[in-house]
This record gives sequence, structure tokens and C-alpha cells, in this order.
Amino acid sequence: MATVSGLDIIQKYNWQVPRYTSYPPAPYFTQAPGEARTTDMILRSNRVGPRHASIYFHVPFCPKRCLFCGCHTEIGRPGAFIRNYMETMERELDLLIPMLDRNRSVTQVHFGGGTPNAVPFAYLEGLIGKLKSSLTVDADAEIAIECDPNLLNLEKVLELGAMGFNRLSIGIQDFDPKVLEAVNRRFPKTAPKDIFRVAREWGFKGNNLDLIYGLPYQTTESFRIAIAKAIDSGPDRISLFPYAHVPWVKGHQGRLQDLPMAGIQERLEIAWESRESLMHAGFVPIGMDHFALPDDELAIAARTHGLHRNFQGYCTSARAGQVYALGASAISQLHEGYIQNAKDLDRYLSAVNEGRLSHETAYRMRPQDMAVRNIINGLLCDGEARIEASLDAEGLDADWKREYLEASKANLTPLLADGLAILDGDFIRLTGNGHYASRAVASAFDPMLKPKAEQDRPRYSQAL
Ligand code: SF4
Repeated sequence: MATVSGLDIIQKYNWQVPRYTSYPPAPYFTQAPGEARTTDMILRSNRVGPRHASIYFHVPFCPKRCLFCGCHTEIGRPGAFIRNYMETMERELDLLIPMLDRNRSVTQVHFGGGTPNAVPFAYLEGLIGKLKSSLTVDADAEIAIECDPNLLNLEKVLELGAMGFNRLSIGIQDFDPKVLEAVNRRFPKTAPKDIFRVAREWGFKGNNLDLIYGLPYQTTESFRIAIAKAIDSGPDRISLFPYAHVPWVKGHQGRLQDLPMAGIQERLEIAWESRESLMHAGFVPIGMDHFALPDDELAIAARTHGLHRNFQGYCTSARAGQVYALGASAISQLHEGYIQNAKDLDRYLSAVNEGRLSHETAYRMRPQDMAVRNIINGLLCDGEARIEASLDAEGLDADWKREYLEASKANLTPLLADGLAILDGDFIRLTGNGHYASRAVASAFDPMLKPKAEQDRPRYSQAL
């Protein structure tokens, strides 16, 4: 367990910093598509690493809004609108496919949202069918779907399996009905244990259960029960996310403000104790917030420095591909940069139905961004990075490099003094406490992050 001083140190560095699902983070994707030359970015992505393709479909519809939600999703759209949207994603695929190298294999397909299992399954089947008939989808490609467990039953798991899905992730968040009611979420009708059992029997692998801590009415004690029930449900992976409270971005979160919520000290205790319990139960920590059973491919990749991270979470380097994302607000994550589709559904639908990709904002990576991305991804995937080796890249300006190294080392000094990381020459490694503060350690290498005093308003949630 944490010593009091260990928790104090982690609390000291519980800063409001990006989650670094991408580097640079999404708020920096502000270039116009023409300026970032997004079409070139896609064409050139065919010739660079990672060499596979990952396809992401964003399904931005939910039957009701969870009050903690931080996603791009819409509530209450009629069936005809949803049908039009799903058919438009097929048209978007028609626009994208001619730009891709068909010899590159698709190793990952992911349906996220929103709630992809809330729409008629025929739409999902149509997209998978079109993908398989147009591109080379690997025989063992991972085809994953994020599910609301309240809308899932055993028959639906079998239907998903018959359509080609082989991994599912269910957002339980907590097992306590009082917590779920407070956040406007419904209790699963079918026990997650049965869902995972049937999925495994069908051949699904890497099945995940999401939990969130920091929600109303949760305490250290109540979350201990949530962790025990999550383990007992039998997933291969458990994701443990801190509730990201950003009411200045997501106004509906303001409705949680008057409810009793764990203070920072208790949130830290929950994070610490949950990590210990999961490890005691045999789960291997994966990066910042994921845990996997030792024979799961993520745990195997973690042992061999083979982890990769994208907006869809952690995956193995062997599966990692250029991510081509379809749907409103979806972000393609390519070697040379990021491209975000129109967030507004009507703008997205109009663009694609007029025969254009709906690129709205983008970010073209500069050589220095790629170098920083290597360091931050190293810390968040492997818990370690080689600093100067990451900067040994073509096109890096020598003055920028010198100034960057000086600034990063100065930022790191207090973190090293507090024992969150060890710097050995060019090599930096997180310590046990440092894993809880990995976002703070990563932020020491982020040259775009303004000091808090210079920020006009908070941009990010706290790390824990
Ligand atoms: S199910 Fe997910 S995407 Fe939908 S409202 Fe809840 S948290 Fe948001």
C-alpha cells in the first residue's frame, strides 16, 4: 500500500495536464485541411509505418446521456436520422478506400461512440461487409465494439460474433445502483459475468470492462466492492479511468457538482488501492490505466515493449496501424498528423453526401512533434524512454533541440527529486509512484504546455 508520503507526493503532481491519447493533444488540431494538406497526409500514410491500417467508426448516438460523459454523442435522434448517418459512413468509406493501398492489411477495426450497440446491428454488419470486400482485412484482425451493457444480452453477443466481432468492451463504470442512478446510467440486465462467459465461448478475446472512479457516492469502501465484482465478472482486461470533470467543456457535468463526491485524497486512495487489488488478482498494469490478465496479448506486449497507444486505447505494436477514422468528430491518427472530421452531424452528413471527405481541422506534425511524441508515448506505454535518441531525427533544428533538452530537464528536476522517475544518462524510467503521476512526468517533455499561470482557463482534467 501507499505510504502517507507516497500519496502526498502523487497528490502534489495531480496536475491538470492532457491525457496524451495523442501528441499534440486534440485542442491543438486547429489547422484548416488545406493548410495541413490532409489529402496528401492520407496518400503518404500508405508508405510509412506503422504499416497496417486500423479503421475506426464513430457511432455518436446514445439512448440517454450519462452525466459524466465526455464523448461526442447525441441523444434522442430518430431512427431515420440514425439510418442516414450509418449509410453516410458507408459512403465515406467509398470516398476513402480509393486513397488507400489495398495491399496493406487491416489489423484493427473498432466501433466506438456513443453506443454502437444501440443502433440496429444490420448497419454495423453493412460496414464490416463493405470493409471486407474492399480492403484486405487480416484473418485474425481484431474487430471490436464498445457496448452499453444495459442494451446487451446473450443473444446479442452471439449475433455480434456471427457478424465477425471478436472483442467487446463494456462500460460498467460501477456496480452500485445508487452511483449509476446518480449519473443517469442504467444497471445491466444481463450479468457481465454471463456476457463475458458467452463471448469467450464464441471466441472473443481481450474483452474489457470499464470502471470509472470519482463519481458521486463512491467511496474507497464502495469502490473496493466494484473492483471485486469487476474481477469476478471475468474480463480479460479492466480499464480504470478517473472521472474527468470538465464542466467548462461538457456543461451537463455541472449537474453532478452538488452531489457528494470523493475528495482528492480519497480519489488517490481509490486509484492506489484498486491498482494493488487488480495486481493481487493477477492483472498486469498496462500503461496508465489499463490492466490485463497475464496471457492477454496486451500483457504479453507490455513484457516485450510492444505496446502502442491510440485514441481507441492501448493495442499491440503488431496490430498498430495508421488509424483512418470515419464518422462525425472522428480523428484519423496518421504518421504525419491528425485529421478531425466535422463535429456537427449536419455538416458531416452534407460534406459526405456531396462527395467530399468532411475534414474540418487537422494538425500536420513537424519533426520536433514526432520526436516529442516518441518520448511521451515511451513513458505512457513502456514507462520509460530514451530522450536524446528520440531527438536524433532528421530535420530537427539543433538550437530547438538544445533549448528543448534544457527546458525538459528543468521541468523534470522536481519530479526526479520527489522520486517519480529515475534519469540515468539519456534514459528515463518511471518509478512505482511515478506510474500514478505518469501524465505529469510526460508533461515535463511537452513544449506546447503553457505553465498554469499563463493559461487563461483550465483546459484539462486532473490526472487522478
Ligand atoms: S453511453 Fe458513453 S457515450 Fe453515451 S452518454 Fe454514456 S458515457 Fe456518453
